[in-house]
Amino acid sequence: MAEKQKTSPPPAAKRSPTKKENNLQERGKRINELLAQAYPDARCSLNFSSPYELLVATILSAQCTDERVNQVTPAFFRRFPNTKALADAEVTEIEELIRSTGFYRNKARALKGMAKALVEHYGGEVPGTMEELVKLPGVGRKTANVVLGNCFNTPGITVDTHVSRVAQRLGLTKNSLQDKIEQDLMRCIPQADWTHFSHRTILHGRNVCQARKPRCEICILAPYCEFVSDQKRKKAK
Ligand code: SF4
Repeated sequence: MAEKQKTSPPPAAKRSPTKKENNLQERGKRINELLAQAYPDARCSLNFSSPYELLVATILSAQCTDERVNQVTPAFFRRFPNTKALADAEVTEIEELIRSTGFYRNKARALKGMAKALVEHYGGEVPGTMEELVKLPGVGRKTANVVLGNCFNTPGITVDTHVSRVAQRLGLTKNSLQDKIEQDLMRCIPQADWTHFSHRTILHGRNVCQARKPRCEICILAPYCEFVSDQKRKKAK
């Protein structure tokens, strides 16, 4: 399903960090360094050649693998090469092209609505700010951060299922809501690395910190991981 639209960005932390937060920042910094060493070439796994294409691909990737989206988008962009073509399309035609990505009815409506809004308000171009992006149908902070980080050189943390899980296990957040997790990670990961951190953490979640059974025995982050220290504490009891 396309992301629920949210318009208000999380408030930035205005107060001085507590001792606990300082420790978290140190740990976040170290974890970020280790991920950078392990995945130096991590990048967005969706194929795109423009902000429009990445916006469409990211909306399609909700509840769907990036591989599947990459199979669907070449034909989609041949048929709808720009926002005007997509805005003028019949929803049923969009549905047919994206059916295999799941939740295709909602996604088709969101894609057409998004394209219409871009044509009406932004001359058919994708805007480059969070505030503008989250006003578009089907676009929440997660999608906006993907577009900003990969097309506009504006660092952003993308909180998907892998980033949520890894951050929770590491103890970098106690939250389960995407926006709250994003805020927590923004406090402990250096801003310049927010986009790269997201790509690397997604890879780490796929390859090592897997949902069903994390492979802690081979994980480079184990010395900094709360999940591991909790397991040790439980065993010691
Ligand atoms: S040590 Fe285990 S739980 Fe912690 S990040 Fe690595 S794989 Fe995940």
